[in-house]
Amino acid sequence: MGHPRLREVAERVEACRGRGTLPVVVFDIDSTLYDTGPRNLRILEEFAEACRRSRPEIDALVERVRGTEIGWNVMDALRRAGCADPELLDDLGRFWGRRFFTDTFVVFDEPVPGAPSFVRDCHERGAFVYYLTGRHVGGMEVGTVQALVRDGFPWGIGRTLLHLKPDFETPDAAFKDEALRDIRSLGGEVVATFENEPGNANLFSRAFPGALGFLLETTHAPNPPPLAPGILRTPDLILPASVPSPVGRGSATPS
Ligand SMILES: [Mg+2]
Repeated sequence: MGHPRLREVAERVEACRGRGTLPVVVFDIDSTLYDTGPRNLRILEEFAEACRRSRPEIDALVERVRGTEIGWNVMDALRRAGCADPELLDDLGRFWGRRFFTDTFVVFDEPVPGAPSFVRDCHERGAFVYYLTGRHVGGMEVGTVQALVRDGFPWGIGRTLLHLKPDFETPDAAFKDEALRDIRSLGGEVVATFENEPGNANLFSRAFPGALGFLLETTHAPNPPPLAPGILRTPDLILPASVPSPVGRGSATPS
């Protein structure tokens, strides 16, 4: 169940519309709207397929990884499953690096619980949905759009934008910094931002101090900075049910 203040996003979108201003909601994609675990697992399974003859121990390791949280990268997951062979881990790292950032594999990601309906609801109430992702043009845009459409996220209609990195090499943090200018160029009001990296969540919080800043508690890069005060942690994007009034005290003033 998501953070209780997720409900406030819809209210702020509508209030903003009421003032005649364009409400903007910014969503990161990896580990914010999508769980990258299935993509990592799929790559690991193909790796096992490719090296099974020379590495008969790989199947037992993959089986151990399967039931766990994969986390930030699949090499660490394999290590945690008991693999202490640096050569095998290096081979997997190279195999993973050639596949993870591709259209072919990105479609294996699965939406974070509640994400499609949450984003749809924001859009239907009038928000501009700004997908801001470290995925890059020239390798990931086709798979990203296929997945967004397949999973029912608003896309390809008014008030939606997918902002990707111009190329693979651009560092994520520098890219997101520059992207702030593009978000401001819409001339609207950023009412909420969603991120899984504490560093990026802090960046949004500084750039848009009036917005609700959410941090998805999924996974993030190692050694994150401390989270800035006021950022709201949520495990997913499932709207919490509104609290029913106690029977017979429907109009009681909250204490
Ligand atoms: Mg992310």
